[in-house]
Amino acid sequence: MIKIAKFGGSSVASAEQFRKVKAIVEADPDRRFVVVSAAGKRFSADNKITDLLLLVNAHIQYHVDCTSLLADIEQRFVDIAEELGLKWPVREKFELFAKNIKKHSPEYIVARGEWFTAHLMAEYLGMPFVDAADVVVFHHNGEVDMERTAARLKDVMVRQGSFVLPGFYGATVDGQIKLFQRGGGDITGAILARCIDAGLYENWTDVSGFLSADPRIVENPRSIRRITFDEMRELSYMGASVLQEEAIFPVREVNIPIQIKNTNRPQDEGTIIREKARLGEDEHLITGIAGKRDFISVHVKKAHMSGEVGFVRKALSVFERYGISVEHIPTGVDSFSVVVNGADVRDSIYSIVTDIRRELDPDDITMVDKLALISVVGRNMSKRSGTSGKIFGALGEAGVNIRMITQSSQEISIIMGVNNDDFERAIQVIYNRFVRDEMVTAS
Ligand code: ASP
Repeated sequence: MIKIAKFGGSSVASAEQFRKVKAIVEADPDRRFVVVSAAGKRFSADNKITDLLLLVNAHIQYHVDCTSLLADIEQRFVDIAEELGLKWPVREKFELFAKNIKKHSPEYIVARGEWFTAHLMAEYLGMPFVDAADVVVFHHNGEVDMERTAARLKDVMVRQGSFVLPGFYGATVDGQIKLFQRGGGDITGAILARCIDAGLYENWTDVSGFLSADPRIVENPRSIRRITFDEMRELSYMGASVLQEEAIFPVREVNIPIQIKNTNRPQDEGTIIREKARLGEDEHLITGIAGKRDFISVHVKKAHMSGEVGFVRKALSVFERYGISVEHIPTGVDSFSVVVNGADVRDSIYSIVTDIRRELDPDDITMVDKLALISVVGRNMSKRSGTSGKIFGALGEAGVNIRMITQSSQEISIIMGVNNDDFERAIQVIYNRFVRDEMVTAS
């Protein structure tokens, strides 16, 4: 089986991290195709090379001298090379790059972070370096030309047998460097996995996968061993993000699983993300709990509204006119609510309410702000009756007032609105009642 091993910025931040990467790659002969991000932070106050290169661009734009900034960046690469005894002429290459800095495009400059990191990693692992500019082909509109990219990647795979590829960038057919969005090394890894028909896409980072709840809210939460793509979307949308979202699509479409692993704790199992759980993998009722604060719910009431065609649409078109994206629309017979992100409507909410009042002539329109949304996600919830009742019961016993309830269409999540002030307690109550109890029963 071919495994793509993608290492994020913190995994390649220093010589010490390079050593861990080597041990991981050498531990499994299936790991022959490696993708790297640019060297990231070595400690929390450190800078990512990508951020420093963006700063270089800003200096150039405002005609400010950036010699010392470039020297700092160079030193990061030189330190790695010297400590590992690498021979690749990193100083010469960097000095050439720095000398011509003004001739390069901003995207070319930023992409050098992964380019230098990948060159060093290639030598250290004893694998060929493949430049993403030669194999990841972009259309001029910024989208990837998957057909050309697949053909080129397959070709180098067959010719080289193994390689290190820098993530995050590619080039148009005429050689112009193009970047993915921030964190886009994950996308490169996914595209490579798809194009060379890998059996697994390993994403090595600095956490041991997804946790079932935010560790700042729940002490030592259980890690999620298996999750489906849909569950992961629900959780990351609610703020529990580990992976760059766009990285999911290339592998998801062709059913390649993704495994999140921790470079600093390779012995940890991590999280495996698949389209569907396999038989016997339905161990938990709740996969994870996530949430966000500061939503606003606009509640509109009108007698016999259910008989009036287009009523909800008219209200939604007001939000659309203000460019506001709607999160949820819980509906009753003669009323409905529109839930939006508080920050999005900070300046427009009163105009929106005025417009709705004028255009829809409702009997009543009220607003609830400081609303937190909590999403309880679990692919198995739909199979077991009474889950939502138990959740609401537990919150009721704890004195948490539930202000809104909706369920996602495939019944893999139940979303509740509570007051901002109850947010953490509500998550703790649900976690203790369902996840912790399950862990106690299982042990
Ligand atoms: N180096 C890029 C960034 O910091 C891409 C990546 O790390 O995946 O956003």
